[in-house]
Amino acid sequence: MSDRSSIASGHGHQEMRVCFCGLPCPLRTSSSKDNRGRRYFGCPKFKDGTGTHCKFLDWIDDPINDHTCAMLSELKTKNKLLEDQLCHKEAVESRLHFLLIALCGLCLALSSMLMYVIFGVPQGIDRRRLPL
Ligand SMILES: [Zn+2]
Repeated sequence: MSDRSSIASGHGHQEMRVCFCGLPCPLRTSSSKDNRGRRYFGCPKFKDGTGTHCKFLDWIDDPINDHTCAMLSELKTKNKLLEDQLCHKEAVESRLHFLLIALCGLCLALSSMLMYVIFGVPQGIDRRRLPL
């Protein structure tokens, strides 16, 4: 019952649907539990909150079988774990970066003090202005 037509765009040949309201339908991706990741054309008024949308829905992708669904779930779990690990490593790296800068500052200060102890105050510097 859908009005199927095709248009050519700069990104190649794309299909287009028109819903029962007569509006061009956006291509969406389902986030529901049963159809997660499946692409479909649906009435553009569906998510506008007015409740005036028609019942037009045209799936592009075939349903996902149980095996694929289980694999997707497993991959999402692994992806979440990897994202958490990456976040933790970035936090550790940030702390190490701060410590490295602090250590460089400390080394610079210690080397300046060491130079002062070894070579003393250079000629031509007013000793009364030194903090020691
Ligand atoms: Zn519609």
